[in-house]
Amino acid sequence: MNSTQIFINGQWVSPANGRVLDMVAPSTGEKIGTIARGTAADIDMAVKAARRAFEGPWGQMAAVERGRLLSRLGQKILENEDELTALEALDTGKALKLARNDIKAVARYFEFYGGAADKLHGETIPFLNGYQVMILREPRGVTAHIIPWNYPAQMFGRTLGPALAAGNAAVLKPAEEACLSCIRLTELAAEVGFPDGAINLVPGLGEEAGAALSSHPDIDLISFTGSPEVGILIQKSAAENHVPCVLELGGKSPQIVFADADHGKAIETIVAALVQNTGQTCSAGSRVLIERSIYDQFMTQLSRRFKNLRAGPHEMDLDCGPVISRVQQERVLGFLERARADNIEIAAQGEVHAASSDGGYFVPPTLFRLVPRDHELAREEVFGPVLAAIPFDDESDAIRLANDTDFGLIAGVWTDSGARQMRMAKAIRAGQVYINGYGAGGGIELPFGGFKKSGHGREKGFEALREFTVAKTVVFNHG
Ligand code: ADP
Repeated sequence: MNSTQIFINGQWVSPANGRVLDMVAPSTGEKIGTIARGTAADIDMAVKAARRAFEGPWGQMAAVERGRLLSRLGQKILENEDELTALEALDTGKALKLARNDIKAVARYFEFYGGAADKLHGETIPFLNGYQVMILREPRGVTAHIIPWNYPAQMFGRTLGPALAAGNAAVLKPAEEACLSCIRLTELAAEVGFPDGAINLVPGLGEEAGAALSSHPDIDLISFTGSPEVGILIQKSAAENHVPCVLELGGKSPQIVFADADHGKAIETIVAALVQNTGQTCSAGSRVLIERSIYDQFMTQLSRRFKNLRAGPHEMDLDCGPVISRVQQERVLGFLERARADNIEIAAQGEVHAASSDGGYFVPPTLFRLVPRDHELAREEVFGPVLAAIPFDDESDAIRLANDTDFGLIAGVWTDSGARQMRMAKAIRAGQVYINGYGAGGGIELPFGGFKKSGHGREKGFEALREFTVAKTVVFNHG
């Protein structure tokens, strides 16, 4: 694999300054390779290549042909599933079963958007007599994609799938902490025959390659997933150049359990939705809100399940892996220490498996009870396997508490009452609401995105195709 190179205009080339970054396996803390450290000069070449592709063969390709290329890439990914799974697990530390799920998901993104490419219809509008009006949906042009380290492969499909299906030419800057699968996926894309410049990949640091890409004057849209802080910088860059952006910036998503819910089913899903990817999922259900009348009983059951959770290296395929880096490990442990100092009681804690390397970035899965509503554990995104339990009094208190957050990405509601299900779904300010279920990170077909600090714009499903296109109104005066 050309992991020290960047992909521009259909060629693997060295970055202009020839520099590299070390890649470390989170399960051991050991170096596993190097990647290119792209900079502004590389980004500029990548954007120019994308512009040429957009104005050339790629831009002129029929939608059905674009769709075929995407579908072929989906197929190719499935043919290389084992290799990609191993690479993703090694690079991110995530358990093998989750990495396999991610690779199936990225294949599915390309299948879904491959099928959708020639189904993006415009509209006609009834207007004055003697007129005919058409709304064309056109690609935006050159799209910039900046993605995080938690789901590198899935993010590759989630952001590039709709952008390419809609006919845009893309420049992707993956995260410096984990991007090996993105490099391999780009190789596979080259093999299936995307025209030169349709996809360009420039790994590098956020403040170098990332900032250069988001502030480049010749891009037409920025798609960003990452922290709220960097989201602000991205929006400032977008404002400077008057381009739109699609932002997904995380959450503090609630799982709301009413007394009449199926507790067993709720507990399994709540635990899975939190520990998936070691809590490093934007849509992790990191607050569990429990009706007071069942609080003690539910916490006893939840604690029993939590105590059995195990963290360990990716190849052991346990409930949790390591977190991504030393910095992230210290950040999550900081939350645990401050909670202890604030006398917040741990209801249950899982274990780090004894066979785990001392050099790995492990954190024990931890459930906190009776977390005060204004405590940081109830308000801030920990991005680790940490769950905050909070009791509520009644339905209106549950709604107040669910919405008492700066974020609004997703929510889960557990109740058997149909009328309450509908009232809750309407009252919660979040981009996705699940009733008696929860889909952290899942659902390629389902529009996904935030309210409030969780971002704006929608990814996944057909909504993403609307983001990556723009409406053009054409008015014929035929008399
Ligand atoms: P996290 O805290 O989860 O690492 P970040 O928002 O820092 O999230 O990173 C998400 C993506 O944004 C990564 O690809 C990173 O390199 C990139 N990034 C970080 N800083 C900047 C920046 N100043 N401008 C553009 N991209 C950036």
